Formats: sequence, C-alpha cells, structure tokens
Amino acid sequence: MPSKNSNGNGMSSHNGNGNGEKSQRSSNLNLICEINDSLAGENDTDQYHFFFLNGYVSRIKNDDRIFYPACLSDNCRRKVMEDASGFRCEHCGKNYMTYQPTYMITAKISDFTESIYVNFAREHGTALMGMTAEEFKEFKENESEEKV
Ligand SMILES: [Zn+2]
Repeated sequence: MPSKNSNGNGMSSHNGNGNGEKSQRSSNLNLICEINDSLAGENDTDQYHFFFLNGYVSRIKNDDRIFYPACLSDNCRRKVMEDASGFRCEHCGKNYMTYQPTYMITAKISDFTESIYVNFAREHGTALMGMTAEEFKEFKENESEEKV
C-alpha cells in the first residue's frame, strides 16, 4: 500500500523561515528506474551496490520460505541438511542438534517509477520483517497449528 510520494520529488517549500537547516540534499535518493538503468550497464551481477531509495515493499517472493536452516557457527551460517542425528553442516563437518533460522528474503521494492528485486539476508531480513527469523518461524508454526 503506497502511502507516500505525493508528487515526484518532494522539493516543495516546507520551511518558510530559513533558520537552521541548510539546504538538505535529498538528491542522494535514487529512483528505481535510475537504479535499474545503472544496473543494466553492469555485467558483474555479483557486485554489491548501494543505493538509497524511497520505495515500498510491494511483494515478497516465497512467502513461506523466507528463511533457511543455517549452521549455528557464527562465521559459517551455511545451509545445514537435516539427517538422522540432527542437522549437518558439510562445511564445518559437524552435526548440530538444532539450527539457526536465517533470513533470505527476496522482496520486490517499488516506487512510482519502476520495481526492483532486492535480497534481504540475515539482519537485513530482521529489519524488513520487524522480527527475527526465529520469531518468524515460531509465528508461522503457531499459525499453521491454529489452522489445523
Ligand atoms: Zn557450518
């Protein structure tokens, strides 16, 4: 539900008396069409890009699979496989009794120009969802129990 962007760029004079604030640059915000343009010129899709944008989440892909079971080791966090004795991390060569639910969310972000898919991993997912992946997992589990 888009609520913001009343008009194109919010440069309308909202401070009548010029005390204090110098001209604050809102120009570090990119429109999504600009971001798409600049990404289209890149071949290396693995690169990280930093943009500031003012958009809204219009869709989340894979709504019920937005986290994965990750290794408990903080500097690993790779996906673990469930097996008979728990959860196995091939990278660490260890078995764990449990796992760390970790976000990997693909969300569609829109503004009034275009849309872009953005990945939100780990704590970025927490910021997006407003709860940790553990909390989300419990939330989903409770929800499905109630439906039964
Ligand atoms: Zn591991």
